[in-house]
Amino acid sequence: MDRVILKRGREESLLRYHPWVFSGAIAQIVGHPAEGDLVGVYSADGKALCCGHYQIGSIAVRVLSFDEDPTQEGFWLKMLTRAYKLREAYGLAVSESTDCYRLVHGEGDGLPGLIVDYYDGVCVLQAHSVGMFRSKGAICDALRELYGSRLKAVYDKSSGTAPFKAGLELVDGYLWKAPDFDGNELAVRENGNSFLVNWSEGQKTGFFLDQRENRAAVGRLAKGRRVLNLFCYTGGFSIYALQGGALHVDSVDSSQRAMDMVDRNVALNGFDASRHTSYCADAIDFVKNVPNGAYDLMIVDPPAFAKHRGALKNALRAYQRLNAAAISKVAPGGFVFTFSCSQVVDKEAFALAVFSAAAECGRSVRILDRLNQPADHSVNIYHPEGEYLKGLLLYVE
Ligand code: SAH
Repeated sequence: MDRVILKRGREESLLRYHPWVFSGAIAQIVGHPAEGDLVGVYSADGKALCCGHYQIGSIAVRVLSFDEDPTQEGFWLKMLTRAYKLREAYGLAVSESTDCYRLVHGEGDGLPGLIVDYYDGVCVLQAHSVGMFRSKGAICDALRELYGSRLKAVYDKSSGTAPFKAGLELVDGYLWKAPDFDGNELAVRENGNSFLVNWSEGQKTGFFLDQRENRAAVGRLAKGRRVLNLFCYTGGFSIYALQGGALHVDSVDSSQRAMDMVDRNVALNGFDASRHTSYCADAIDFVKNVPNGAYDLMIVDPPAFAKHRGALKNALRAYQRLNAAAISKVAPGGFVFTFSCSQVVDKEAFALAVFSAAAECGRSVRILDRLNQPADHSVNIYHPEGEYLKGLLLYVE
């Protein structure tokens, strides 16, 4: 294993188990590691600190282990089993009503650069680093061992996420599938609701598993209400609202493919089509044209407006504008569930944008709840950057 030697005093964050080594902390690289190779990281006075995947860029090493050798036989199975045990302990991996969850959430599960979502036997893997991309065969083998006969397929969906470097050929596809498994789509259950997931054509790994708990919260408040679901994707919040007894649900997304899935999901759950309307439209234009008081409950779940720090200021303005439109239109006594999944927009900054939006509307707004990502999108306490989804439940008079 090649060695990365840190500058004097730059081991501090690693001693606190932060799982990244920034390139600026490195004094010397002994050897010629290729991107994705395992390297050992050492302090200036020669103390072994950790080892991880090497990559050219501002994050030079993503730590896989602070104490053991990740090249050891059984390493991947051990790490995936740890991840599985958490989901099992939390009641997700063994639930009657839910058969989909995130198995691996990168740093949150000690596996920086790796996402694995589980859809009733189909594991969809996304590598965000060269090291994880190069390890996908070993990860697939470990998933087969972990799930045994429950596993239907392992699909690699890394083409949009793995850094396009090191001559890697990025084509999505199956790493393994059971002989009798066919198709790219499956109906999964989430809190007793059914959803079609298409990992090959859908966004991200096919479904936004991170909104499971927040969707349930919408379901609890939907009874008798007129609901608007903005940025609905395949209708996650819409189905819970219908299940919860909403009078009517309007769903809006700019993707026609997503809207087709919403209609199929409404039918799959047996709801009368007259209770739901699909709009393929720009959600921002749509909400601006909504008559005042037309909805009693709104969901505002846009894509990440800021993907990096440089975009932060514009993103905060965009959150403010969007939320002002929603808050100004919701009926008196109505609810707004509003979210941001931008990692660089922290809770405080988001709350401030929503505060500015409320003040702009001049309405009385109360915060009833602060919403988060669920337990299977776990946050490593030493890596607070893993926290990305935040939301507020507002009551608007
Ligand atoms: N709430 C969804 C996830 C939303 S992801 C769920 O629970 O599954 C964000 C969605 O916003 C994506 O489906 C994307 O197609 C859509 N989108 C992006 N820009 C948009 C725009 N300007 N208007 C409407 N939808 C948009």
